[in-house]
Amino acid sequence: MRFVIIGGGPAGNQAATHAARLGAEVVLIERDIVGGAAHLLDCIPSKAMIATGGTLQLINSQTSAMGLTHVTAELDFDALKERIAGIESRLERSVRTLLESQGVRLIHGTGRLAGPRTVVAETADGQEELAADFVLLSTGSRPRVPDCAPVDGVRVLTTRHAYPPPELPGHLVVIGSGVTGVEFVHMFSSFGCEVTLIVSRQQVLPRKDAEVAAALEENFLERGVRLLKGARATGVDVDAGGVVVHCDDGRRAAGTHVLLAIGALPNSDGLGLETAGVEVDGAGYVTINRHCQTNQGHIYAAGDLSGKLPLSSVAQMQGRKIAEHVMGGHTRAHRHLDYDKAASAIFTEPEIADVGLAEADAFAEGRKIRVTKVPFSASAKALINNDTRGFVKILSDPATGVVLGGSIVGRHAAELISVIALAVTAGLRVNDIVESLLVHPALAEALAEAAD
Ligand SMILES: Cc1cc2nc3c(=O)[nH]c(=O)nc-3n(C[C@H](O)[C@H](O)[C@H](O)COP(=O)(O)OP(=O)(O)OC[C@H]3O[C@@H](n4cnc5c(N)ncnc54)[C@H](O)[C@@H]3O)c2cc1C
Repeated sequence: MRFVIIGGGPAGNQAATHAARLGAEVVLIERDIVGGAAHLLDCIPSKAMIATGGTLQLINSQTSAMGLTHVTAELDFDALKERIAGIESRLERSVRTLLESQGVRLIHGTGRLAGPRTVVAETADGQEELAADFVLLSTGSRPRVPDCAPVDGVRVLTTRHAYPPPELPGHLVVIGSGVTGVEFVHMFSSFGCEVTLIVSRQQVLPRKDAEVAAALEENFLERGVRLLKGARATGVDVDAGGVVVHCDDGRRAAGTHVLLAIGALPNSDGLGLETAGVEVDGAGYVTINRHCQTNQGHIYAAGDLSGKLPLSSVAQMQGRKIAEHVMGGHTRAHRHLDYDKAASAIFTEPEIADVGLAEADAFAEGRKIRVTKVPFSASAKALINNDTRGFVKILSDPATGVVLGGSIVGRHAAELISVIALAVTAGLRVNDIVESLLVHPALAEALAEAAD
């Protein structure tokens, strides 16, 4: 049984490894590096830069409170570039080694469908035609660029130019206040850059809980970030002195560089979808059913291309589920992927994470829920860390105690949310968390208190 995969990001390489382990003959075509945009351009380098900024901030703002003196740090931009390159090449090696150890054949080239069961790989040595019993399309997405922004990769950047950018901006204007935009604000302001954020609505993170967004805005203002709320960027002028972003209400934001974080477009063009009769939606995303099958049952799509939640974690899980589905039998109890139960995090200061039902959605649906909230100011470990910002909120069913969702704002929120994610996925009750014997002192104790 031959399984051909186009695109080696988290979705493609997870599907490849897992299907090979289950006995498939797997060919993976990748035009760039295995690991995908996630490892090279998006997820991993952004988090690596945020970690450096966070360490810098911690040293410069916390040391005296921790009883230390004469400790300061400065950013070494060249060393940061080396660090990012080192992480990328190490991850690439480990993904490649894993794929090869499972017997996956890697083709370095560009893949496309050339018929319902034929894939063509264009490589430096020419073309290869591959017969396939099953195909996975996992070619990811790319940043959306509006016509009004003359992207040059030097002064006007997209996320693809920012990890790291060619030079450190003196004053960065960020357009877009979703997850990626606010992470950029946090990252560059922690490096000491001046930052202006253009926010099209009245709150940053427009889809998040207002309380969570307020905690982040407060931190941005404390750091001197300028927020232009209720403004839409309509044009960008670039000259030798810098950039000026024009907004629809007449306001202007001047800076040295501008960064666009206004969403993504699917990499579905040039994939030969029409030759195999694969359907896309109005925005070009390949439409899939709950097994990640396209309208052609033997062709699957996953990751950002499938237009579901654009997260590496979701892409990986789709890849795994597809491998199980392709191989027919499920090796263990198989659960369909439930996108509503995906945990996600925003790597800002404070960190923000949530999973499952959101409070605002529950109220909008008129659903009865129990909401319990505990601030970290009551946590011994938060005091030890000298960081008592934030809170844990748990949503549960008042009748059964089943955990429905939660949000965490504060240090290590992205790690701590895993406990609530497990509870939501496994259908655990608040008492299961309350009665777990947790470590003391630990931030996780706040979870047990919030569950109580
Ligand atoms: C700035 C930023 C930060 C992010 N941070 C996070 C985060 O913290 N956590 C998280 O979970 N997610 C994060 N994401 C989202 C995450 O990066 C994506 O959801 C994830 O990369 C999607 O994986 P994928 O498998 O669909 O494709 P990708 O990682 O996009 O990989 C697709 C691969 O397909 C290859 N390809 C494309 N066309 C072809 C072709 N025709 N032939 C051969 N190869 C092809 C590309 O070269 C690429 O390697 C972030 C995204 C951005 C933009």
